[in-house]
Amino acid sequence: MNPNTDFIPFARPSYSAEEEEAVVSVIRSGWVTTGAVTAEFEKKVAEAAGVKYSLAVNSATSGLHLALDASGIKAGDYVITSPYTFTATAEVIRYLDAHPLFADIEPETYNISTDRIEELLNRKAAAGSLPSDAAIKAIIPVHVGGELCRRPAILEMAGQKGLAVIEDGAHLQPEPLLTDSESILVYSFYATKCIATGEGGMIITNNAAAADRMRTMRFHGIDREAWDRYRKPGKRAWEYDIIAPGYKYNLPDTASAIGLVQLHKADWMRKKRVEIAALYNESFSGYNFLKTPSFSGGSSRHLYILRIDSDRLTIDRDRMIDELTERGIGTSVHYKPLHLMTYYRNKYGLKPEDFPESLKKYETSFSLPIYPDLTESEISRIIDAVLQIGKKYWRTKQA
Ligand SMILES: *Cc1c(COP(=O)(O)O)cnc(C)c1O
Repeated sequence: MNPNTDFIPFARPSYSAEEEEAVVSVIRSGWVTTGAVTAEFEKKVAEAAGVKYSLAVNSATSGLHLALDASGIKAGDYVITSPYTFTATAEVIRYLDAHPLFADIEPETYNISTDRIEELLNRKAAAGSLPSDAAIKAIIPVHVGGELCRRPAILEMAGQKGLAVIEDGAHLQPEPLLTDSESILVYSFYATKCIATGEGGMIITNNAAAADRMRTMRFHGIDREAWDRYRKPGKRAWEYDIIAPGYKYNLPDTASAIGLVQLHKADWMRKKRVEIAALYNESFSGYNFLKTPSFSGGSSRHLYILRIDSDRLTIDRDRMIDELTERGIGTSVHYKPLHLMTYYRNKYGLKPEDFPESLKKYETSFSLPIYPDLTESEISRIIDAVLQIGKKYWRTKQA
């Protein structure tokens, strides 16, 4: 083992004996699929988020799909979202044969621009083809990196036009947010996210009708009332009714057991990320070849997205990543915008310059490791490597 060259992975979940014991206990109980532990996990997330309804699902992708279905999105409808996201956000729109309508991000953040949304709603701009009578039915904002988008403005615009709002909260952790709305928010518990259960997600909302529909569709479209009725002792326990062709999106207790432990540690884990982000920002802020991210107080800091000033360096972002890899530092890019991806590009006739902010940020940014189990020496190695490479290719030493 050489602490100077061992590869530092981009992401690593923070697990201890507690998560191990929680899984073992589920296995020993003999009930490994959705059951009491998942119900407990849902209850705890609802409490932490201060909402009426919470539904565990096997991924955020499933949750977003159920949310769109429950919002009445149909074939041919349009849903506004950001190109600066993971494909899951937009692919679920296509599951329903509806169409994503991309709105570029703000100059200051990686989040969807309310000005661009307004232009789309007023039909002042639409990349690709938007028939003049096309029905825009929903907005899916993404809270990129855990930095909240302009929720109040988006909720207001949606309210005025009668649009559903489905929040992609894949980078958030449960805390009170939906107190002002009937919107639906979806968390991800994927291996790299704030709370990691391997695969998993949770839908939260205060909208009773949507919660009902999602609960039914989450598990094969089984009529829950009939299910509960027939489950009562003395009734026909084998009988149930199907009211729609639903999905198999439930979360097993093995995953929920990990989730309960992770939820309990969530604030501590965020505190660690806050410390790491502060250390990075402090170390990088004196160098004009780097553009450090700024964080709002409530940000989960799921991601640390650093940008290079390409006028100040003789290398580009790709080369920066290569040099970091050579020094044993894992990185990632959040995101290669969806309008550059073959499918969306071809399907909707999109060009790179259609979303200039997304393009610019994509070309100059990369994400550094930020997770609780990073050791002090690993953090130092990461900082040293970034500065060493930057100084090596610094175009001018003048500020
Ligand atoms: C991870 C992620 C998703 C999908 O989450 P899964 O739980 O893997 O389905 C959706 N949107 C964003 C922004 C993500 O980062």
